[in-house]
Amino acid sequence: MRPAEPAAAGLSAPFRRPAAATLAVHGDTAGRDAHGALRTPVYHSVAFEHPDARSMCLTFTGRKPAFAYSRISNPTVTGFEQRMAAISGGIPLAFSSGMAAISATILVLAGTGTNIVTSRNLFGNTASLMEQTLRPWGLETRYADITDPNAVREAIDSRTRMVFFETISNPALEVADCERIAAVCRERGVPLVLDNTVMTPLGFDSGKAGAAVEIISSTKYISGGGTSIGGLVIDNRNFDWKKAPALAAVSEQYGPMAFIARLRQEVHRNLGGCMSPESAYFHTLGLETLEMRMRKSFANALAVARFLENHPTVRKVNYPGLESSKGHGIAKKQFRLGAGGVLTFDLKDEEECFRLLDALRLIRRATNINDNKTLAIHPATTIFAEYSPARQALMGVRPTMIRLSLGIEETGDIISDLERGLDSL
Ligand code: PLP
Repeated sequence: MRPAEPAAAGLSAPFRRPAAATLAVHGDTAGRDAHGALRTPVYHSVAFEHPDARSMCLTFTGRKPAFAYSRISNPTVTGFEQRMAAISGGIPLAFSSGMAAISATILVLAGTGTNIVTSRNLFGNTASLMEQTLRPWGLETRYADITDPNAVREAIDSRTRMVFFETISNPALEVADCERIAAVCRERGVPLVLDNTVMTPLGFDSGKAGAAVEIISSTKYISGGGTSIGGLVIDNRNFDWKKAPALAAVSEQYGPMAFIARLRQEVHRNLGGCMSPESAYFHTLGLETLEMRMRKSFANALAVARFLENHPTVRKVNYPGLESSKGHGIAKKQFRLGAGGVLTFDLKDEEECFRLLDALRLIRRATNINDNKTLAIHPATTIFAEYSPARQALMGVRPTMIRLSLGIEETGDIISDLERGLDSL
């Protein structure tokens, strides 16, 4: 299938443009189901039939938009992408996971002998992808202090193919000023790729802030609460892809659609990291309650951060919603619904962290973030266990630190579980 054009006017035509939260519920009515189903059905079919040989030829050569094979495109997945297009204003493509979305984006834009400028504070698997998986292919990962636009400017050279960072890094909770970093990227002609997993377009409009591409692990908030794995790459339609060396030739044919065309027609198709129709169904349903769930999770995070800050056993709390945390000022300016649903706090040592985790009754000992359930983990001995203590320190991971991802339970119940656990130490 040809890359999807930006969403048609549909729902917005006769009225004022609805808010993103409304579009998350309805999408664009232009794509209504043939039978009037209010939920896009799960199209459990690998292949799709063509009315005649000529249509088949036109479809395979990208001249007729139709479905042929579900690794390339599938109606349920396209429905999810269209809903995301309505919310974000960009051109989305769904993947099997957030990691698949990140990998594909790197493979479209970068190659042997080039580099990515990024932060030391990255989700562990993203850091491992860049440093371990891609290094043997000749791709350099360059670290810069992403909160300092001058440091980013200095790190970029003629071989830099993208600047990459996370809206709020996981788990160091670093917050960069996206508009200022985007201005540096514009000045140097390099696309800014932002992992906006923890905010989604409802919490932070990355395109408006100047990011060329937004990546989301839809596994998190969007899936409806940890139901299934998925990812998204969204072209925010604000970058001139002729400036990206890997897309110069494709730009001649596809103009402003060059990035999404190479992503869909080559890298996504050839890697095979497509989203399953079941996941697309869950993620579309998840969008309908996304803003409500994010608001509750963010409010819980703030309330729990304030509680922990005042507890005598807790040595330190990091949450961008707290005045005492480093990213507070930028978080307040940048984010629409609050400062996110994840916080970290420090106890005396690793042993005390383990004892608290074992004492919890309501809060679950599990990885993942942005679930409906509140989850706790000790990052140094789990997600970041493959890194040495020195390297962990550089990534903002301490043996004394617990990460909490706040769910949507009643605030008092979460606090009471923590209070009982902390008082038992
Ligand atoms: N980006 C961030 C910020 C994450 O936290 C994660 C997973 O935790 C990913 C990407 C990877 O997403 P997935 O697990 O869907 O591959």
